[in-house]
Amino acid sequence: MSELQLMVLVLAVIYGWECLAWLRRGGVAFRKDWRGHWRLAHPAAVLGNQTGGVVVAQPLPPLGYLVTAYQSPLSFSPDGVFSYVAQCVNPGWRPPQAARYFSFAEIKTITVVNRQVRLNNTLLLSAASVYQAEHLAGQLRQLLPLDPARRANAIRALQRDSLDTKAIQRRWEAFLVTGNRLRWLANGLLAYLFVLAPAGFWYFGFVRGWLPLLLGLLAFTITNTVLFHRAHRRLYPEADDDRLTQDCLILLAPATSARSHDALARHLLEPFHPLAVAQLFLPVAEFRTFARRVVLELRHPCLPVCPATAPARAAAAEVWSRTAWLTEVEAFVAKHGISLPELLRPPERTEPGVQSYCPRCEAQFTAATGECTDCGGLPLVRFPGA
Ligand SMILES: [Zn+2]
Repeated sequence: MSELQLMVLVLAVIYGWECLAWLRRGGVAFRKDWRGHWRLAHPAAVLGNQTGGVVVAQPLPPLGYLVTAYQSPLSFSPDGVFSYVAQCVNPGWRPPQAARYFSFAEIKTITVVNRQVRLNNTLLLSAASVYQAEHLAGQLRQLLPLDPARRANAIRALQRDSLDTKAIQRRWEAFLVTGNRLRWLANGLLAYLFVLAPAGFWYFGFVRGWLPLLLGLLAFTITNTVLFHRAHRRLYPEADDDRLTQDCLILLAPATSARSHDALARHLLEPFHPLAVAQLFLPVAEFRTFARRVVLELRHPCLPVCPATAPARAAAAEVWSRTAWLTEVEAFVAKHGISLPELLRPPERTEPGVQSYCPRCEAQFTAATGECTDCGGLPLVRFPGA
């Protein structure tokens, strides 16, 4: 293998790495492919573990986008906050969670240290990103000074805000102002790195070719860095530290520079519930499938619903929060033209002999009664007429 081939291979491996993103369970990724179609992706089971998995952004031009959205990892009640939720938007088991409870009366300070949200300097939870940590801390600061009655209304309002598709649309359009330019620059940079630069080195040789090719590369990375920096400051005004890190990487690492549109887009919609992003981005049939999963999960989470060691006030917060979410999510689904009884009808029987099904994972059983062990012993539901 020649030095030139080795250089291109190393660059391709680094670029491939840049196309991978870690996605925590409790979140989903939305990928836009080269045809302009959005697809939903859950954390991969093959390249993953209990806490999350890898998702792959489309690597080849014309490039698309990759954005992530997470369900709230906090159960709020009028009395306190619990860093645990029973439901999970992904198939399979819920991820491990910190499960720490604080009553609002005992909270004196709310701080964010990297991805950690701390109350009274004690860990509440480690969020999926620094952006999510700041968002959750902002919600806590908003709820803390209120009395319990007002806090109940404020929690419901926060849940409704996270389902606001108009706000998502506005934020996405604000992103596209620069996002589209960065994406086309990334397409150009990929062509430069993997076609034009190797051809230039092959034709002119390293000695004559390195300076003009380096200047061409710098023209791409400097333009990318300036555009990224301005857009990042506009879209994420609080995230100065992360912006500085990203600026340096985009300026100095060409493979990172070729994914700068993803770096700008990825955390953009994290304050919103994945269901609302799905309504905006996905085709109707795929939105319905995801909506069914979200509603079934809220109605029938895995057992036990709460860790056995959790205090009674924490268990009450989980129930209060999930009940409020179910009300908001069902109203959201109905508002977008989906009949709830139709959405939640029993699954089609896979074989004539089956008599019951699990209301959560929808596995089917020949026994008329029993429990689904995959869902922690959830009681089975008989098919109509079985
Ligand atoms: Zn099940």
